[in-house]
Order: sequence, then structure tokens, then C-alpha cells
Amino acid sequence: MRTTLLLDIVADACGERIAVGPREGGVSFGQLRDGARAAAAWLMSRSAENLGFLGLNGAAVPLTLFAAGFAGMPFVPLNYRLADADLRRLVARTAPAVLVADDDMVPRLGAIEGVKVIARSTFEERFLHGAAEPVDLPESENDIAVLLFTSGTTGEPKAAVLRHANLTSYVMSTVDLLGCDEDEAALVSVPAYHIAGISAILTSVYGARRIVYIPAFTAEDWVAVAAREGVTHAMVVPTMLDRILDELDSRGEKLPALRALSYGGGRMPEPVIARAMRVLPNVDFVNAYGLTETSSTVALLSPDDHREAFASEDAVVRARLGSVGRVLPSLEIEIRDEQGNALPPGQKGEICVRGEQVSGEYLHKKAIADDGWFATNDSGWIDEDGYLFVEGRLDDVIVRGGENISPGEIEDVLREHGSIADVAVLGLPHPSWGECVAAVVVCRDADPDSAELSRHVQARLRSTKTPEQWFFRTELPYNETGKLLRRVLKAELAEATGQD
Ligand code: ATP
Repeated sequence: MRTTLLLDIVADACGERIAVGPREGGVSFGQLRDGARAAAAWLMSRSAENLGFLGLNGAAVPLTLFAAGFAGMPFVPLNYRLADADLRRLVARTAPAVLVADDDMVPRLGAIEGVKVIARSTFEERFLHGAAEPVDLPESENDIAVLLFTSGTTGEPKAAVLRHANLTSYVMSTVDLLGCDEDEAALVSVPAYHIAGISAILTSVYGARRIVYIPAFTAEDWVAVAAREGVTHAMVVPTMLDRILDELDSRGEKLPALRALSYGGGRMPEPVIARAMRVLPNVDFVNAYGLTETSSTVALLSPDDHREAFASEDAVVRARLGSVGRVLPSLEIEIRDEQGNALPPGQKGEICVRGEQVSGEYLHKKAIADDGWFATNDSGWIDEDGYLFVEGRLDDVIVRGGENISPGEIEDVLREHGSIADVAVLGLPHPSWGECVAAVVVCRDADPDSAELSRHVQARLRSTKTPEQWFFRTELPYNETGKLLRRVLKAELAEATGQD
């Protein structure tokens, strides 16, 4: 099934409903479909091979995504936060024939051979507000729908290939067609060049839910727009949530319309989600775990799971607030050891998934086994009841004298210490152990004594997990989707301590 069929079905059924933008004056599903088809006809007349997009969130994002889909060419959303040289390198790598760019970003691209850059205002004016044109559209669901760069937290961003069938399989397994009431609105604050931005469009469209964008995330805008637009659903990354809660606190805002808040993209600290559940007791929380290569969510912790864990006195059930829940019914999941053998519940290994939404394919490179299993490069384990716990990237596991140590567990323990605002744990080279555990800490007020922090960890975890080196910083490096840039921090520390 093609992604464009999702829009066609919804535009036929309720074309007048607002698809994107404010309640008054937004773009309707019918207008979005007609505009995207007209743009597709124009792209095909130019024999374009793919369509790039460089810009902030807004109606142009679904317009270009579906235009590319109707035209049977890959959509290539680009990261506007990259330096000009890196951006131009990505453009050269993916070679979009046409690139729609925010008007003020056009000069950043300069003249690139073979690429026609078109200003967003011109594109929107012509296609969103122009007349629909009949067009013969290609049909294959095996076409590439989106070429999406991974976040690059573990290395150079990889260009993941997502086909129509991958994306629609994900949407079908999570959304009820036209399942939303007319008053529902989803606030999207993640950028179009992240898988969460793409899946938010597809799931909202198929549910016939209005999308409300904020161009780029700030907690002030998020809360103001959510209150003004009566937002009912939202998706955030973990670093956004704490800031949103502070903002709600300082405004005394309760967001009475908000019904559901999903989060994912990185590890959610347990104290933050527990705080969110106290501040917003009527909201359904969902923790969604997934990767670019899996077309977004593969496992989720449901609202009922959240409530049960939050209220439970049983340590095993309570701990599930730190899990990512159970795998979607349409997928299979296994934890494997280094030799590729499946491990029983409770044992740690690499998380592997299989199913139609899993692409596991990069530009010019296959990354999936012949039997369809995709190795995520995430370390984790599953409990007896099927709840998945994600420890983080395998590359981030610290190997100290042969013992594998997960940074997430130590970070969680340190976050429980009242003086710590943020923390990153990582491995640094060590002459005898291979690696030693180092902690980089951002404190709330004055820096606490590192001996006191060591005692705090040692009282809760084994001594081999107690950081041997402590660094104090005023902030940690995150990318714009809230991912801690561990390798940047690691390189900085190695340089500062004269290690390589
Ligand atoms: P790269 O693959 O380039 O290193 P990346 O891993 O950040 O970058 P993404 O596809 O954006 O690329 O992110 C997927 C990763 O994010 C997962 O492999 C996992 O480590 C992490 N992640 C996603 N959702 C969750 C979640 N709910 N809880 C914990 N971690 C998560």
C-alpha cells in the first residue's frame, strides 16, 4: 500500500476537515491532496528523480511528502541545522532533482549542479492554493517513499531507505482509519527530517486528525500553542518533557484539552515521567521505542501500563515505568547474544526485530539478514511478561576489565541524587581495565563532592559501576531531537585528559 492512499481515503471521506494548521484558516485534507497531486504532476513533467525539503515545520512538509509519494519519487527531508558545507554534502549524496527550501534558507544552498531549488513560498502558492490537475500516477508500493538520515548519534548519519510498504505497515498496525473526533489536534514539534516527524504526519492523516506545527521547539511556544489550539495529542522527546513541565508550572497552565502524550527517541528518566504523571493526571502517556530503520515505533508502553506501574508497590511492576513496553503485534522481537543466538527472558543482548515495517536498508547498502531480522545495535532485555527494557546503543556499553556496563543504569541512579540536574556516563580509555567509568555531571547549584556522589552510586550498584572519574559541566551536548551526543562528549574528554 502506498502512503498516498492514506491521504486519498481520508480526503474522499472528509475532505473539508482541517488537516494542517489553525482551526480557522488551516489547510483541509482535500486541499492537501489536490495540492500534492498537482505538485506531483509538475515534478513528473520535469522528470525529477526525487524531491528534497529543507525547512521548518509547516504545511509545506506534508505537501512535499505526499507530492513526492504521488509522483513515485523519494522524499528527502534535510537537516537545516547542519553547517552549510555538511548540508551541501548531503544534497550531493542524495542528489534531489528538485529541492523546496524555506525562502531564507535558499541562499545557503548556492548553485548546485543538477538541483533546482525552489522557494517554499513559491511552491506553496502554486500548489497549495492552485487548481487541482488530473494526473496519471505510478502505483508500486515498493517505491522508496522517504530517504531519511539517522540522527548520527553513533557516527556519520546513515541514509535509511523507507519504502511505502514499510511506512504504511507501521501506520496500519497503530492507527484506526478515521478514528479521530473532529476536535482532535496533534501538536508536532519534531522536525521533518526525523522519523518521528514523518510518522506523525502519516498517523495523523490516516486518523483524520489535524496537525498543529510549531516551527521549532521551545517550551514557551509548545505550551502556548497547545493551550490556544486545544491540542489533544502530542509527541515529545525526553529532553522536551522536563522543560514543558517547568513551563506549565510557571504559567499555572493545566492543558485541559490534552488527552495523550507520547514520548520516545531516547531514554526517558524515570523521575521525569513520574513527575509528568503527577502534573497531568488525566493524560494517557505512551512510551514509543523505535528507529529510523524500522519506520518508527516497534514497541510501546501503553497508558494502562503507565498507570499500573506508577501505582504499584511491587518492585517488578513499578520498574516497568522504565521499560518501553511490549512489541507491536505485527512484529517479532528477539534478544540475541554476540553469536546471534536468541536469549531467554532476563538476559541482556542485542535487540533484533522483524516485520513488514522494518526496512533495514540504507542507500546502496542492505542492512538486514536474508531471513528478515534487523539488528538494532541497541542493548536490552525482556522480562517474563514481555516488557522490553532498552539500555542504549551497544557502542555506548562500557567494557571495564571484561565486564559490560550500561551507562543508562548508572545515569538513572545519579539522577536520583537531588543535586544533579543532568548527567552522562561513558567509558574512557584505561591502561589496565581497557575502559573506566567516567561521569559528566551538571549540578543544580554548587558542585557536590565527587566522593559523596561515589558513595551514592556504590550504595545502590556494584563498585565496578561506580564512576572513577568525575567531570563537572554547565551543560551537556544534545542534538535538536534531544539525543545526547555521547561521542562528542567522549572526544572532548579524551582531548581534555590527553587520552586517545
Ligand atoms: P544513528 O543511527 O545515526 O547513530 P540514532 O540511533 O540516534 O542515530 P535514530 O533512528 O534517530 O538514530 O534513533 C533510534 C535510537 O533511539 C534507538 O536505536 C534507541 O537507541 C533510541 N530510542 C528510540 N526510542 C527510544 C525509547 N523510547 N527509549 C529509549 N531509547 C530510544
